[in-house]
Amino acid sequence: MKKDILSMYPEELRTEIKELGQPGFRADQITDWLSKGVRSFEQMKNLPKDLKNTMIDKYHIYEPKVLEKKTSADGTIKYLWELYDGNAVETVIMRYRYGNTVCVSSQVGCRQGCAFCASTIGGLVRDLNASEILDEVVFSQKESGLKISNIVMMGIGEPLDNFDNVVRFLRLVNDPGGINIGMRHITISTCGIIERFADLASLGYPVTLSLSLHAPDDETRSKIMPSNRSRGVDRILDECIRFYEATGRRISFEYAMIKNVNDSDEQAYLLADTAKKAHAHINLIPLNYVSERDLRPSDPSTIKRFKDILEGRGVNVTVRRKLGNDVDASCGQLRRRHITSEH
Ligand code: SAH
Repeated sequence: MKKDILSMYPEELRTEIKELGQPGFRADQITDWLSKGVRSFEQMKNLPKDLKNTMIDKYHIYEPKVLEKKTSADGTIKYLWELYDGNAVETVIMRYRYGNTVCVSSQVGCRQGCAFCASTIGGLVRDLNASEILDEVVFSQKESGLKISNIVMMGIGEPLDNFDNVVRFLRLVNDPGGINIGMRHITISTCGIIERFADLASLGYPVTLSLSLHAPDDETRSKIMPSNRSRGVDRILDECIRFYEATGRRISFEYAMIKNVNDSDEQAYLLADTAKKAHAHINLIPLNYVSERDLRPSDPSTIKRFKDILEGRGVNVTVRRKLGNDVDASCGQLRRRHITSEH
């Protein structure tokens, strides 16, 4: 098995290069090429031929290929990348006034089974390596020519179900010699894998944790999010409070508004209490319609009423602008269509 070189920390590579009997500066040269987006040892011009050959034998390196690129009228760009084994994942660049945000996938598929989500329809295929998540950022930036300043882990997959690779990705993308994006500019979104909250808090990284809540009551939440059945809203809320107390970082709640499912006045009141207990900010998102799913977005007037109730109770709320609607921006939709068209 060849080792995945881009997933290694620079100091790990240095140790291995020295073990190969090479001077340490060779590792710095390789790291430099990698951080420039070079993904072939052949192209690392300042390495001696024999070292290039050793590297080719011992290490895996790969350049993701663009299978599809779609640009929306609002500037949102969506990429479908082909990975080394033929699998595909998507990445979205969203253009906000405060900078460009990239939304990355963390797994090929997903095993969480949320009823409204396209990413989980075919289940989990495999985890992404740290290098593959990193290259979603590197190559989105390189291909689009846009400088990325923020990262949200809200693409395909459940980041906390691929914890070790995600942590490695965070350290790599934060490396001053590489992409160098500050932890404060990174958001990790989860459906509520609370078993990992303490591990994440203990890293001491000032990232933002975002909880995909989508319903404040167990009956509704367990219906649309199977991961809730063994955990429950109360326990998840307790862990959110613990995370906030341990890190001082406010959690945000994602709430996709689904017609006649989670948009009643009673649910707004309950959600307000829940958010206040957890010191959370709420992002309301009109559900993105996914053709395989029999769920519809709430009406604009319902969303407005829901928002007013929350604000009336002193909760911090934003209604997300819908970006990239014309390019299937909801996570998993491009990959889904790609897989379906192959069969
Ligand atoms: N597994 C992680 C991250 C991936 S999903 C999580 O659950 O948070 C990123 C966000 O998009 C989540 O809040 C998810 O619930 C939401 N989402 C998925 N499908 C959606 C849809 N059709 N419309 C609106 N939001 C959706």
